[in-house]
Amino acid sequence: MSILVLLENDHGTVRPSSLSALAAAQKLAVAAGTPGEVDAVLFEGQQDKGHAKAAPAAAKLAGVRNLHVVDGHPTAEAAAPILVDVAKQHGASHVVAAANAVGKNVIPRAAGLADSQPVTEVVAIEGADTFTRPVYAGSALMTVRSKNPVHYLTIRPGSFETSEAAGSGNATTHQHQPPHTPQARLESVDITTSERPDLEAARVVVAGGKGLKDAERFKALLAPLADELNAAIGASRAAVDADFAPNEIQVGQTGKIVAPELYVAVAISGAVQHLAGMKDSKTIVAINADPDAPIFQVADYGIVGDAFEIVPELVKAIKAV
Ligand code: FAD
Repeated sequence: MSILVLLENDHGTVRPSSLSALAAAQKLAVAAGTPGEVDAVLFEGQQDKGHAKAAPAAAKLAGVRNLHVVDGHPTAEAAAPILVDVAKQHGASHVVAAANAVGKNVIPRAAGLADSQPVTEVVAIEGADTFTRPVYAGSALMTVRSKNPVHYLTIRPGSFETSEAAGSGNATTHQHQPPHTPQARLESVDITTSERPDLEAARVVVAGGKGLKDAERFKALLAPLADELNAAIGASRAAVDADFAPNEIQVGQTGKIVAPELYVAVAISGAVQHLAGMKDSKTIVAINADPDAPIFQVADYGIVGDAFEIVPELVKAIKAV
């Protein structure tokens, strides 16, 4: 029996959300009574644009016994059968991935091929077959017992500390080529590069809403604050829909789920769909002109007032420290 974890390449290192998946896999191994029995599949991704391979870093991760490296950028249709095959090869009891774009695409397909029902967005492991996950856009937590012979899981990266995954292991490496699939063919990959931390893994997120008026003011107001705090920038869906910010930085039910140490919500009303993506943040600071804005119900610190006055003052104060 083993636990199989899906890892992804992030410019030559293992993606932080994959390290969270590995931490969850290690917890599952303990819960299943097989500590240390973790194997991994690594998707290297696009190699033709000078991206470094992550296999050397992945092979050193503590507690990984076998590392299956898939070269190139498999489509989800091609990736899913690889996961199922490797899971069978190692007699895996669980297959775990981060609940990010890749995990959400691959795990349900792999579970379907294995005739298993996936358990998604897991935030806590209660036992080898018992998991906690949010429902109703995060308004409630559900504890589920899975009767599947093999459990296919996606985990919320913010819920599993990555520190347990760090270390210097020595995994045995196996190479795989992604099979060609008739259903889907990869035409191209456009990767958005940013100097800022990855939104889903950032320790600090500064997010803006529709109240920031337009794309120019959104950027001009938030960038200096994000620079000072070494923060990722996020946005509400209304801000994304109004073209203030790109789709990939939307936070919420239909965007990214984040749980940073500090989340600064600027001119965001706090609709339930937005809260679903950020309310597990450790400390929430809200800046809003409306004292009755729902965001203040989840905020640890609230500032009522005009964001265009408050944020520059905040930047000045941080610089002065
Ligand atoms: P608004 O609701 O327009 O609020 C703007 C806020 O800015 C107000 O509170 C106002 O007081 C404040 N403001 C205005 N001017 C200033 C100023 N100068 N200074 C300070 N404050 C100011 N939303 C998401 O964010 N993420 C999702 O993933 C998401 N998924 C959804 C899925 C579904 C199925 C549906 C139906 C909706 C979804 N939404 C999502 C949309 C959500 O319901 C809200 O419409 C959206 O979050 C509102 O964004 P907002 O707070 O930026 O805008």
